[in-house]
Amino acid sequence: MSTNIIDGKAYAANLRERISEHVKNLKNQHNITPGLAVIIVGHDPASQVYVRNKAKQTLEVGMNSFKYDLPENVSETELLTLINKLNTRPDVHGILVQMPVPDHINATNIINALNPNKDVDMFHPINAGKLMVGQVGPVSCTPLGCLMMLRDVHGSLEGKEAVVIGRSNLVGKPMAQLLLRENCTVTMAHSRTIDLPAVVRRADIVIAAVGRAKMVKGDWIKKGATVIDVGINRIDAPEKGEGKTRLVGDVDFEEAVKIAGAITPVPGGVGPMTIACLLANTVTTACLINGISPPKDLVA
Ligand code: NDP
Repeated sequence: MSTNIIDGKAYAANLRERISEHVKNLKNQHNITPGLAVIIVGHDPASQVYVRNKAKQTLEVGMNSFKYDLPENVSETELLTLINKLNTRPDVHGILVQMPVPDHINATNIINALNPNKDVDMFHPINAGKLMVGQVGPVSCTPLGCLMMLRDVHGSLEGKEAVVIGRSNLVGKPMAQLLLRENCTVTMAHSRTIDLPAVVRRADIVIAAVGRAKMVKGDWIKKGATVIDVGINRIDAPEKGEGKTRLVGDVDFEEAVKIAGAITPVPGGVGPMTIACLLANTVTTACLINGISPPKDLVA
């Protein structure tokens, strides 16, 4: 692996080891076993794989895993009833509803029904607000993972020019907030940004969270910049055989890797850290719910 490639799998493995230690301490010192409930509605094969992976890793770090596999036609009321039960169960410290939910379910109603103290992917507006005003709370898993890798690459991020492409509630907006908190000068770009290549060329740190395969070209990147590619896009891969596909990011990796100082690959970059941060957030919420200070190395 080229030396400027950020190995997200290795970062995630290291983070999971630390989480295991924190889980052991919580059990030994406070008799608490953090528990994560994941709800999936419908049978989208990619989501099923993702959720299985989350459950496996939850158990591997010594936490309890509760998986709820609901049929595609489950009613909003039934889903809300389950969430309300989990909201009050003392052995559940984190609740994640795998998004998107089917069209007949109003996602906003689901998000607003979550107990904010158990909202491990920061869907709830209360937690988005806490991030905005600098209070401790769960931070969206993907931006948290990106921040952990950036801190490790750079040490201090102070004064860096950061450009975040994408402004979703789950990735772009919290990422920009976190970078602002690190004293970066932050620009948020989106589909209406004029001359995106020129905006990206200013950046010491580029976060691409768009969902468009290889959109960010090598000549958009400033020499030596750090590039974090959040995008996950499936494209045809005829070189692997007829009908085969492969995953690529939002950044044209082959071009950008020659110019960037450091860059995350897809797959193997941000993705593994996202799941590890879900586990980290469950430890954080288990601590906060029980009036214990969460481990400093797990929070933003
Ligand atoms: P959304 O679709 O919610 O947001 C996409 C953002 O990209 C929007 O803000 C949109 O702008 C912007 N955008 C779209 N087209 C352009 C363009 N041509 N130029 C500039 N900006 C553009 O996506 P998410 O934030 O949920 O996810 C983004 C990507 O990250 C996806 O590929 C997703 O699969 C991946 N992802 C990966 C995760 C991981 O663990 N690695 C976790 C979560 C997501 P506007 O607001 O103006 O429409």
